[in-house]
Amino acid sequence: MKLSWKTVLLWTLPALVIGFFIWQGAFASSPADAAKNTASTRMTYGRFLEYLNADRVTSVDFYDNGRTAIVEAVDPELDNRVQRLRVDLPGNTPEIVSRLRDSKINFDSHPPRNDGAIWGLLGNLVFPVLLIAGLFFLFRRSGNVPGGPGQAMNFGKSKARFQMEAKTGVLFDDVAGIEEAKEELQEVVTFLKKPERFTAVGAKIPKGVLLVGQPGTGKTLLAKAIAGEAGVPFFSISGSEFVEMFVGVGASRVRDLFKKAKENAPCIIFIDEIDAVGRQRGAGIGGGNDEREQTLNQLLTEMDGFEGNTGIIIIAATNRPDVLDSALLRPGRFDRQVTVDPPDIKGRLEVLKVHARNKKLAPEVSLDIVARRTPGFTGADLANLLNEAAILTARRRKEAITMLEIDNAVDRVVAGMEGTPLVDSKSKRLIAYHEIGHAIIGTLVKAHDPVQKVTLIPRGQAQGLTWFTPSEDQGLISRAQIMARIMGALGGRAAEEVIFGNAEVTTGAGNDLQQVSSMARQMVTRFGMSDLGPLSLESQQGEVFLGRDWTTRSEYSEEIASKVDAQVHEIVMFCYGEACRIMRENRTVVDRLVDLLVEKETIDGEEFRQIVAEYTIVPEKERYIPQL
Ligand code: ADP
Ligand code: ZN
Repeated sequence: MKLSWKTVLLWTLPALVIGFFIWQGAFASSPADAAKNTASTRMTYGRFLEYLNADRVTSVDFYDNGRTAIVEAVDPELDNRVQRLRVDLPGNTPEIVSRLRDSKINFDSHPPRNDGAIWGLLGNLVFPVLLIAGLFFLFRRSGNVPGGPGQAMNFGKSKARFQMEAKTGVLFDDVAGIEEAKEELQEVVTFLKKPERFTAVGAKIPKGVLLVGQPGTGKTLLAKAIAGEAGVPFFSISGSEFVEMFVGVGASRVRDLFKKAKENAPCIIFIDEIDAVGRQRGAGIGGGNDEREQTLNQLLTEMDGFEGNTGIIIIAATNRPDVLDSALLRPGRFDRQVTVDPPDIKGRLEVLKVHARNKKLAPEVSLDIVARRTPGFTGADLANLLNEAAILTARRRKEAITMLEIDNAVDRVVAGMEGTPLVDSKSKRLIAYHEIGHAIIGTLVKAHDPVQKVTLIPRGQAQGLTWFTPSEDQGLISRAQIMARIMGALGGRAAEEVIFGNAEVTTGAGNDLQQVSSMARQMVTRFGMSDLGPLSLESQQGEVFLGRDWTTRSEYSEEIASKVDAQVHEIVMFCYGEACRIMRENRTVVDRLVDLLVEKETIDGEEFRQIVAEYTIVPEKERYIPQL
């Protein structure tokens, strides 16, 4: 029934539209046109008056509300032959009517053709009706919802917006590297599976769990694993999908979601990016957002509305718990918070193992080394990394993934796509000096992480790259290490200046300098590592400006601000001076390394260190230690 309707309309729609235009031509024509058919000769109004005066008019028929007349007149010069002439009258002309009556001339008035009017009216109606019908069907098609036509306009129904998975198929075994979070959530599975155990002793089962962590750490995966382990359905929606441009839509979506969930209890509701709806009400620039507040209020109402033991547990995810409305965090709502951090080296190994399960790895591949090379990678990054490596392997038509593919994939994930290397030229040499500059400082300054490789093969935005292996997971970083990093980052610019002179330095160091400034400023304002003393002047960098913390940003006097600037300047200038000095003192080895790099395009860390050791007069253990 539904289908045939649609097909009929789809086929007839264009036909009807075309028909409509033909119609207008045929039926909706005005009576003036009809008159034209019978009297093709036209006469001016003035001429008509002359004819009237000369008593040559025998009859007049008015049409078109008196605006047109068909006049019968005799022509004495042509044996009084009767002519039919059309006259356009200047609007309503009562004096003509009285003249005609006085002269006893036959006259008549003809109303507009009735059928024409009906067709005209229909014609005017048909087009909008077709348009509306067309839109209506379009809506139905895009809505993709089974059911009657009434649903086409159901904006508020969240049917298409939240996903429901009856079985997620994810188990805790698929989630790795975030053991603490897993342990905390193990209990939630028991809440869902054996609620009696808790209710029997009068315990209230918590309603909401807030997962806090940056994107890609596996929050969605964890929530799915809870549903999978408990064998309950999984409802998911993203906070940003609640916030629509129509006021009230978000709130009705929340209502809908909870209605569906209650029908399917026990179940898990997962709300991703809850900060999109759950921001502190009335906060932010420009005041509150009515729609968002309504949605949030509805969410709070729904959460309060069901008993703890209905078997619905709401899991929400965010990486900005600090901006959330405090009402959300009250007991009885999201009263449990679980932090999901990016995995440490052991965790990364576990995640790699999980994702290596369904991949063919060559026996020599050591996931240990991969884990060591990937500090800061989240679970999602690691999954992506192994997938990239598998794609590379397939592209190279190899049997199994080798270390080479994994290495290439790491480079790609970190630094972007590989480009084609430059041909030998002045700028290639300059880039080589820049990179060797980073690498030589990284090798000679003791506190620096060791060089992993130097390359002139461009990746992403960078024309050349120097990679360092972080020795271990660095939870704590010492002052000497930060100073070493600042020097290393300045090494590129230092090489450019020492070798090519002040006039030839390039924009290539732009990124390096950004990092340098940020590190030096943090030393002063956050870590108390300058002459200003152990002061914390800023809580964190890059606070989002719309949150609740808008007003709580730390402020300090202008005097302190200028002292901060002076300290930052002093640190950077000291490190730059040191970097230039190291460059000058090691010019010979720098030149040799540059020649080698231009020729080979990549030098790995081991080879690099061997060459440096041949030349440096400073014994290994007494390498430059930055001191300020
Ligand atoms: P989030 O919700 O925190 O942004 P997701 O759960 O969507 O992150 O993670 C995306 C993908 O990354 C997952 O589907 C999974 O393949 C992988 N992943 C992330 N974290 C882990 C982890 N701890 N263990 C295993 N795989 C993970
Ligand atoms: Zn650089």
